[in-house]
Amino acid sequence: MSQINLLPPDWTAQAACRGCPPDKFFPAAEDPAEGAKMICRGCPVQGPCLDHALRYREAGVWGGTTERERARIRRAAPGRAAVQEGALRVASPHRG
Ligand code: SF4
Repeated sequence: MSQINLLPPDWTAQAACRGCPPDKFFPAAEDPAEGAKMICRGCPVQGPCLDHALRYREAGVWGGTTERERARIRRAAPGRAAVQEGALRVASPHRG
């Protein structure tokens, strides 16, 4: 019998945004989200976080980028944002 792992990947445990107010990471569309990005700049898991957000098209600030910035990354490098069909999403580290 196979098992499904429902635990978030290890990187979320190291997220610098754990315990931060979630609204900081879900700004209005025109908000440059500098407060959240400043936290991301010092985060040790910025790379895996960005990869996750590109792959699963997350809302809000992830990996130091806004949704709009990630849309630009997807257009420039579509292979990096390939969606894994059937894969599980992880809990947001912002809500840790
Ligand atoms: S959004 Fe991602 S990169 Fe930014 S602090 Fe949280 S885990 Fe780190």
